[in-house]
Amino acid sequence: MNTVAHPPHPINEPPQTYAPNSPERASLRDALDDLKAQHIEIPAFIGGEAVTTDRTFSVRAPHEHTRELATAYFCGADEVEQAIASALEARKTWSQMDWQDRAGIFLKAAELVSGPYRDTINAATMLGQSKNAYQSDIEAACELCDFLRFNAHFLEQLYMEQPFSPDGQWNRMEYRPLEGFVFAVTPFNFTAIQCNLPTAPALMGNVALWKPSPRSIYSAYFVYKILEEAGLPPGVINMLPGAGADVGDPVLASPHLAGLHFTGSQATFNHLWKSIGENLDTYRSYPRIVGETGGKDFIVAHPTADMEAVRTAIVRGAFEYQGQKCSAASRVYLPASRWPEIKDDLAAIVDAIKVGPVEDFTNYVNAVIDERAYDEITAYIEDAKADPGVTVLAGGTHSKDEGYFVDPTVLVVDDPKHVTMREEIFGPVVSIYIYEDAEFEDTLTLVDETSPYALTGSIFSQDRDVIAHVTKRLENAAGNFYINDKPTGSVVGQQPFGGLRKSGTNDKAGSIFNLTRWVSPRAIKETFVPATSYEYPHHQPDKATNGVSRTERATPEGRA
Ligand code: NAD
Repeated sequence: MNTVAHPPHPINEPPQTYAPNSPERASLRDALDDLKAQHIEIPAFIGGEAVTTDRTFSVRAPHEHTRELATAYFCGADEVEQAIASALEARKTWSQMDWQDRAGIFLKAAELVSGPYRDTINAATMLGQSKNAYQSDIEAACELCDFLRFNAHFLEQLYMEQPFSPDGQWNRMEYRPLEGFVFAVTPFNFTAIQCNLPTAPALMGNVALWKPSPRSIYSAYFVYKILEEAGLPPGVINMLPGAGADVGDPVLASPHLAGLHFTGSQATFNHLWKSIGENLDTYRSYPRIVGETGGKDFIVAHPTADMEAVRTAIVRGAFEYQGQKCSAASRVYLPASRWPEIKDDLAAIVDAIKVGPVEDFTNYVNAVIDERAYDEITAYIEDAKADPGVTVLAGGTHSKDEGYFVDPTVLVVDDPKHVTMREEIFGPVVSIYIYEDAEFEDTLTLVDETSPYALTGSIFSQDRDVIAHVTKRLENAAGNFYINDKPTGSVVGQQPFGGLRKSGTNDKAGSIFNLTRWVSPRAIKETFVPATSYEYPHHQPDKATNGVSRTERATPEGRA
């Protein structure tokens, strides 16, 4: 298109409150009832066509596991082969489409989510991932819209990055999509990430194979349908539900793999990276590897901290969405002199937290995602209960009779390197270590060295010198560092998100840094009046004139 068009300036989508008697609460309840009244089929989508297979998966509500919401159809090597062919075919036109048209599709998808489909995407996230109304809205609706809108803005910034052109030349950078397809592999815990991982590369002109998690396939289906309604052409994003390796192995064996856009556990990312290494000779290009993985996120309070703020940060940071956030606060370091101020309060608040199904809006904590997660989380809790070096300050109880409910649990550990201070539990469990005030510096070393992860972390202090010192001292302990705030709740465009060390490649989802990974820049130089002689002036021989060499005559007077 013959114009320089700017995408609309992005503004973060405001969350709704769902307060009692609010219209949004009533309409969300209707959407929940509507979805529960249906049983849907979730096929694969290949080249825009719904594809079913003979491998089915029963999709159930984690908080009510007798409720089947959908039947999903799982893919394998045959569907992967079809999807690669369809993606490469779609690439021919998609990669050449004006970026304004590509961006227009994703901006329309954001409007559909923020408006007519907001209740649907929230209700699907609530039922399929057991997430309460507000926790759904802030991500399944708001963050999803933010990714789509801010990425269009970052695309423009990236394209505007152009080289210097001296007189007589025009230098340009063209931001080509990668040659091949991108494999987007998404985790269960954020509907917004499900949308972002395939759409960020697609916005940049790439085509994608998207493998959603079976644990969140219900909301993934609605994300796909909204993208389709927004005008995404067939084959640009192919959705392939399935068990990890059944889809992953044939995809990673394709010579056309151009990139991996992954979010999930460290174990899965390590496996995928190693597989790419093993297949390296197969690929036409070196695949881009972007992976955001787990965390063992900390709160450290200095003796100068506001302890009421610390207490609230622990409760919100550790237990929202049942602690199933990569950024969830899961290890806490508190000074012995201040601990008594919040100890009883913290226990009372956590024991009073309401746990139950998402349909009851007063529940703060809902179910964990499935039986496997329940068994893994509760094994940590039972081991802790049997450990004389651990005190269970609150919670410690659980039941999977109706849904996979784990009560929010606070452990106080004697050993700062206890297993629950080191490993990602990914459930509503937080461990607290009480340090002697005089050992603050040693405690910072513990914070830095106890876990292999470095995703998020917080310092609480009222002393600016302490804040400045800790911010430097823990420079590599977190990719997202918070001062006097909980370590969760990053917002697109405000706190670009990602961690280092074993937390991932830190390519900052929802930022220009992430988009740079999905383009292969081409530098183009145009010379307006090209040289016609192959020789340069210094190739001319020295010529003596009246005993003065040519070189000596090359003065301003001489040229005149
Ligand atoms: P997971 O690793 O179990 O699964 C992630 C995805 O990988 C799923 O789609 C799964 O089916 C797929 N997968 C598994 N094996 C595969 C294979 N061999 N080939 C291809 N795909 C395969 O993770 P999860 O339980 O869905 O998500 C929770 C994890 O994600 C936690 O560790 C959490 O910290 C992390 N996470 C990180 C961030 C971040 O931004 N750093 C955000 C959200 C979640």
